[in-house]
Amino acid sequence: MNPANFDFHCHSSVSDGLLPPAELVRRAASNGVTWLALTDHDDLSGLGEAAAAAQEAGIDFSGGVEISIEWQGIPIHVVGLGIKGDCPQLQAGLQTIRNGRVERARRMEASLAAAGIEGCFDGAMRYAENPSLISRAHFARYMVEIGIAQDTCTIFHHYLTPGKPGYVDHRWATLEESVGWILAAGGVAVVAHPGRYRFANGGQRAFLSEFKELGGQGIEVVCGCHGNDNVQHFARLVRHFGLYASRGSDFHGPEESYIDLGKLAALPEDLKPVWRLMA
Ligand code: AMP
Ligand code: MN
Ligand code: MN
Ligand code: MN
Repeated sequence: MNPANFDFHCHSSVSDGLLPPAELVRRAASNGVTWLALTDHDDLSGLGEAAAAAQEAGIDFSGGVEISIEWQGIPIHVVGLGIKGDCPQLQAGLQTIRNGRVERARRMEASLAAAGIEGCFDGAMRYAENPSLISRAHFARYMVEIGIAQDTCTIFHHYLTPGKPGYVDHRWATLEESVGWILAAGGVAVVAHPGRYRFANGGQRAFLSEFKELGGQGIEVVCGCHGNDNVQHFARLVRHFGLYASRGSDFHGPEESYIDLGKLAALPEDLKPVWRLMA
């Protein structure tokens, strides 16, 4: 396995990315990625195609997933790396999350309709390859299409984040479930883009203690949405908690992402990289 330019967080059109798995892998390879993990939301069905494309392109590949959870009312994402895709416990767990997504999307539609924007459920569904993986990202694309705003980022800001008309509370999996499923599948559990969560005072450390206690091992230190302050902050927490550091673009598509596949800065040198647990 070649960790020179590893990218352990990205999405294909199986979930809310724009490129099919094989195309995503080819883009990663031509951008210089040496080891890729595909981490679609709550689903494993792109892994086979991606693994085959990686072999063809001559880059290393690991199976991954990004699990939607809720911790003390805060929506959080936990990435599983190096997972075995045929683990019944993980598969059943992800199924329960997918089962909740359509019902949530119905409530989002009702909430947006009350704010005067009609037809979002059917509109968003046209952007979703798999109805059970319907996501806020699909709603955002539809809302751009009908001219509510110029880009998906603005749509999120005004309509799809907490307190805004299209945002509804939802029961996702628990932290304990997500880490348990990842461990059952032989994987490494990693906190995705930790800079995005709005913890109350002391919440961040409480969350990381609990995560580690449950068997979680890594944090994304370098990722698409982290500025230098975030990188330094989470590097300190990785050292403090004795965790491993991950690096992932969270690439969703050429026009929608902060950063392209394989274009991330290096991890701070003294941190233990998470790939050591997967080699
Ligand atoms: P969901 O899983 O349906 O809650 O949707 C979450 C997805 O929406 C994330 O994985 C991102 O792809 C996208 N997303 C979340 N927040 C933003 C944002 N502020 N701007 C653009 N996309 C976002
Ligand atoms: Mn996404
Ligand atoms: Mn995420
Ligand atoms: Mn992601």
